[in-house]
Amino acid sequence: MDYLPIFIQLRGEPVVVAGGGEVALRKVELLLRAGARITVIAPELHEDLRALAEQNAIRFLSLPFQPHHLDGVSLAIAATDSREVNAAVASAARARRVPVNVVDDAELSSFIFPAIIDRSPVMVAVGSSGCSPVLARRVRQQIETLLPARLGALARFVGDRRKNVQKSLAPEQRRSFWERVIGGFVGSRVLAGDERNADRAFESELAAAHNADTAAADGTRLGEVYLIGAGPGDPDLLTLRAVQLLQQADVILYDRLISDAVLDRARRDAQRIFVGKETGGDHQKTQTRIHELLVHYARRGLRVARLKGGDPFIFGRGGEEIEVLAEHGIPYVVVPGITAALGAAASAGIPLTHRRLAQSVTFAAGHALDDESLDWRSLSQPHHTVVFYMGVAQLPRIVAKLLESGASPHLPAALVERGSLAEQRVARGSISTIVDIARDRNIAPPAVLIVGEVASLARDDEELIATADQARQSAAQEPV
Ligand code: SAH
Repeated sequence: MDYLPIFIQLRGEPVVVAGGGEVALRKVELLLRAGARITVIAPELHEDLRALAEQNAIRFLSLPFQPHHLDGVSLAIAATDSREVNAAVASAARARRVPVNVVDDAELSSFIFPAIIDRSPVMVAVGSSGCSPVLARRVRQQIETLLPARLGALARFVGDRRKNVQKSLAPEQRRSFWERVIGGFVGSRVLAGDERNADRAFESELAAAHNADTAAADGTRLGEVYLIGAGPGDPDLLTLRAVQLLQQADVILYDRLISDAVLDRARRDAQRIFVGKETGGDHQKTQTRIHELLVHYARRGLRVARLKGGDPFIFGRGGEEIEVLAEHGIPYVVVPGITAALGAAASAGIPLTHRRLAQSVTFAAGHALDDESLDWRSLSQPHHTVVFYMGVAQLPRIVAKLLESGASPHLPAALVERGSLAEQRVARGSISTIVDIARDRNIAPPAVLIVGEVASLARDDEELIATADQARQSAAQEPV
């Protein structure tokens, strides 16, 4: 280990920053967040630094740097554009045993700034011992996606209750108590922004632990369900919260539409249970079984992720699942996902609304055509987009219904199969040609059918290849 990472308390401490440009400004802003008392030494100042000096947030010395400027300071930063001045600051600091950082010069520095994630009071610092700040920043970004936005709130929640727990519990009990609180129901309630229920659950866990009543403590260990929308399949389209909860879940119930790449983002040791509906199977029976499993695992105190394709509340029966959970008093969190219509439209280049072409959009289920609940006349209106889910098998009937209701045979239509995935295929035509196109290209579920003027903007795969060829040719012909 070349550098020992430490967190240093600088509130009210005198710190000198040599240099008055943009680089110095960034360091000053950081040091101000830490509450340091800053003196900037420079011949002239960046305008933002000047503003800070005018507000007395920093002190400004308009002088050439002198070694004695570092007498009695706690920390020094050299951020000038002269290597000579930076070296002078570094050697004056070392002579006084003042920790010094020379920006972008690990050799002259006695300490370096890590890349940080600030979820105060929780801080994460990443360093590469000066080898590659860019790499350190990338690592930070990767870690950042795993950390809930309300991590700071959780730290404060725990911090506020520490003394109380110290009074109530013996030292050997505390650690497992905190593990249970932070990693369990209480913690996830705080992270979901529900501190009221978190506090209630905390009090009852503490009371049970205090009575050293492990049976009761186990009884109060409440499970919960995360109803997570997994988006259209590309794991990069998962939300940050979806990934965070997948990392916590003990059990994962997943559907047929969930890709392996998405499942890869879940905790390695989580139990995975496939609960997909087989085509032609009894859907109601499968759904009832899902309800039973959700209740069963949550009652055993486990955190259950119910992972659904797209968004849980768009043709996902999420509504029924939360009714069952509410009936059984099981807490749940719903995490929205990118629904197939949005994912497919984005990757096929179809704006679902468009100033000139469509002012409204409907998501419709294309498989339940016998029930007359769809208002076909309004779906066929001009300047309107309709996205049919689960419509591939019923394509001829959907088209017939639209034509019957007055839609023009030239109304553009596009099919997007496996939208957002590497195997995505897009077929474009009109409502009078799309059935044949689908048959010729063998379009299969999962696919959405997008009907409306905007569908004319779809990037049909075959055309796309032709245009790319054309573009390459004309680029080759253009004078350089
Ligand atoms: N809750 C899901 C929809 C479930 S219904 C959501 O919000 O997306 C299943 C239907 O979704 C499929 O029949 C298909 O029409 C559509 N679908 C799901 N994933 C898709 C994808 N990657 N590309 C195109 N359509 C998809």
